[in-house]
Amino acid sequence: LRQLTRSGRTSPTRFAVLFIDLDNFKRINDSLGHDVGDELLVSVAASLTKILRNQDIVARLGGDEFTMIVDNLDHTHVAAKVASRVIEAVGEIRDLKGHSLIVTPSIGISIFPDDGHSGEELLKNADCAMYESKKRGKSNYHFYTETMNMDALTRLDLETALRKAIDQNDIHLHYQPKVNLATGDIGGAEVLARWTLNEQFISPETFISIAEEAGLIKKLGEQILRKACLQYQYWVEKGLAKGRIAINLSAHQFEDEALVDTVERILQETGLSADYLELEITESMVVNETQKAIEQMHQLRKLGITLAIDDFGTGYSSLSYLKEFPVNTLKIDRCFINDMLNTDRNRNIVELIVNMAHTLSMNVVAEGVETIEQAKAIKLMNAEEIQGYLFSKPIPAEEFEQLLAKAPNLNEKLKRS
Ligand code: C2E
Ligand code: CA
Ligand code: CA
Repeated sequence: LRQLTRSGRTSPTRFAVLFIDLDNFKRINDSLGHDVGDELLVSVAASLTKILRNQDIVARLGGDEFTMIVDNLDHTHVAAKVASRVIEAVGEIRDLKGHSLIVTPSIGISIFPDDGHSGEELLKNADCAMYESKKRGKSNYHFYTETMNMDALTRLDLETALRKAIDQNDIHLHYQPKVNLATGDIGGAEVLARWTLNEQFISPETFISIAEEAGLIKKLGEQILRKACLQYQYWVEKGLAKGRIAINLSAHQFEDEALVDTVERILQETGLSADYLELEITESMVVNETQKAIEQMHQLRKLGITLAIDDFGTGYSSLSYLKEFPVNTLKIDRCFINDMLNTDRNRNIVELIVNMAHTLSMNVVAEGVETIEQAKAIKLMNAEEIQGYLFSKPIPAEEFEQLLAKAPNLNEKLKRS
């Protein structure tokens, strides 16, 4: 690394540092013993060497951490490709001492000179990006610079891939519980769409906006709605459902005049009663043609479903209109919750929103609640529900079903602290 970062090298001078960490290696060591762990490292090292190109370098830094230098990079694409190959090569099944093992890597990528001029800096930043991969569900790679995550795949590639994913029904749903503060029980759940492309997590903000621009949102939105209603009806029949299932609508969906018919049709198809459905819209969707939007809301309400205003406080808010919206719930955006305990003023703003919503006969959900302190403060304000990592991240259906069955109580956690 020192040699490569030395100045005066002639072009092409870009290269990538891959920081590779094995997922759950400690568990293998602890459960099967260090002998098996050692052999696994040797075997992974052999796999990594095999995929190396002539000019590249791989090393073991220590423990279960490897690094790779991918030299002569003319495009970040190449680093992403190598990372995919690493995931594939490391992830194959290994037979070691009578055990069949699969180990996956999480990879962070930094680029010289964009992400650092010294070896130390490049390693540190690749390490940091590796943690992002772990956070996003392991067995994937992540670039240190956010824009490069997008660069590696062009927008067009993404659009083509998204079209295919929608056709193949490859967009999955995660469920995040909302907790009723009065009882401590799960009071409902929000559906969040998930897409991974070549083991890379693509954020819903990114692919929803691509779907909107590419004219795919109607199909995708319907797919999400149908899938979520079907799943929830299954939980209703099993006696597990608690509260309503909340589904996000994109602006394009909301503006579609056929929306009410579509929702009605999907409820009929899936057998879900409208009493179990809530739709989340943002204020920005209502800015244009407000009267028409309010009419659309009334139509939806007539079906028996409820409506929530999402991300409240982040955009345009008009109090004179807000009181005319037939909405049942107001969700306070997580940026307010995030700093609510920093200053009295921030805390007061949250309280003010809660009181305002109550005055307008709306329920309040506080989003992005991550700490017990935040939960306690919000409970004191008499908000109805909280949603956030404190209780649970968005999780796949199987896990959510287990959570529903276990019915954990948040109040016990609050009391214990
Ligand atoms: P949103 O509707 O505001 O969804 C809440 C976001 O906050 C989710 O991000 C969720 O994972 C995240 N979150 C929940 N609790 C916490 C917490 O305690 N701390 C932090 N830091 N974050 C938390 P996600 O899943 O990345 O979704 C982002 C946005 O993408 C959503 O924001 C929504 O606008 C959009 N989206 C997601 N799924 C769909 C969908 O099915 N349809 C449409 N139209 N939009 C969707
Ligand atoms: Ca939402
Ligand atoms: Ca939100």
